[in-house]
Amino acid sequence: MKAVPELPEITVIAKQMNKEISGKRMVDIEVKQPKNLNMPAQEFVKTVEGKIVNSVSSKGKWIFIELDSAHYMLINLGMNADLLYFTSNQKHPKKYQFKLTFNDKTGFTIQFQWFGYIHLVPEKDLNKHKLTAKLGISPINKEFTPRRFEKLLVGKKAGIKSFLLDQKNIAGIGNVYIQDILFEAKLHPNQKISTMSEKEINNLYNAIQNILNRSIQLGGLAYEKDFYGQKGKLTINEFLVGYKTGKPCPTCNTPIEKIKTGSTSSYICPKCQPLK
Ligand SMILES: [Zn+2]
Repeated sequence: MKAVPELPEITVIAKQMNKEISGKRMVDIEVKQPKNLNMPAQEFVKTVEGKIVNSVSSKGKWIFIELDSAHYMLINLGMNADLLYFTSNQKHPKKYQFKLTFNDKTGFTIQFQWFGYIHLVPEKDLNKHKLTAKLGISPINKEFTPRRFEKLLVGKKAGIKSFLLDQKNIAGIGNVYIQDILFEAKLHPNQKISTMSEKEINNLYNAIQNILNRSIQLGGLAYEKDFYGQKGKLTINEFLVGYKTGKPCPTCNTPIEKIKTGSTSSYICPKCQPLK
């Protein structure tokens, strides 16, 4: 299964990074693929060399490394990339496009597969960084309340799936987790937001929380590695309907169908998720 890491995977990696690299000084930076950067490699290296990591957090599919120089290193892993920690006792992976070593000789490597970004942005310019400035609210943020969700949906004309996938509305849900979220909420992907009842909105809110938090607890998808190179425990077997074409619906046994919804595929139980 080829997947873009979504909120659960990035949340797990960012937490592990925060634990391992906060307070450490960056002493060696190696850039083998400058196209991932938003500036010439030399300038990038010169700016971050000697700086200390304050903390690591995440928003949506982005990792935010805060430096003591009022800069942020923003990382997006694209598709099937590996971001791996190494300690002074271990050898780092042979293949990498980016390597950062700290003063205690620990560090991390990144191996991109398809696309990915390592952008260095001054704190004062964060709101001008096109790829992250417009990210919507994180669905695991405390501020993401049922009321806030309801407000986001007011007056929207889109179908519910395309709304949830748009990172400007809510940051971090992609085409993997959306499948079971919509199933648990008993909503067809193309259901128009304007036709949703209050109960359906509430069910959807709960489904977003349940599906994402469960995955975080399981360490994310079994197809993605965390900071320590460990794979998550969430396999396709664990999914309710996602990627399970022809398998029985866990609620009513109707075979799960794969349908086209706009530019993405959807997995639904046609009986539990009728288009209203
Ligand atoms: Zn069903």
